[in-house]
Amino acid sequence: MGFRFRKTVSLGKLVRLNISKSGIGVSTGVRGLRLSVSPDGKVRSTVGLPGTGLSHTKVIGDLTPSQAGAAKSKQQRQCQACGKRASATDRFCRHCGARLVAPGQ
Ligand SMILES: [Zn+2]
Repeated sequence: MGFRFRKTVSLGKLVRLNISKSGIGVSTGVRGLRLSVSPDGKVRSTVGLPGTGLSHTKVIGDLTPSQAGAAKSKQQRQCQACGKRASATDRFCRHCGARLVAPGQ
């Protein structure tokens, strides 16, 4: 598969799905203001002046699992010492050997 793949699907008037090799992004917005979530989980807002071609994009959030988010999911625990991923059944980090906090504590 050497070719690039990208597709945009409109869901109603305001929402578009941007499907590419790296994942699915979502964007929504009205004239002059757009919110989009890229496949890497970054949430961007774009403010533009209609008719001028001027716009300003700013990353306003990140939907990728943070340390706080990872703690909620039993499948995606994270070592407090080294930050690497640990499985739900591990008692000790397989990367650095630190003791892992049991889920729900
Ligand atoms: Zn570790």
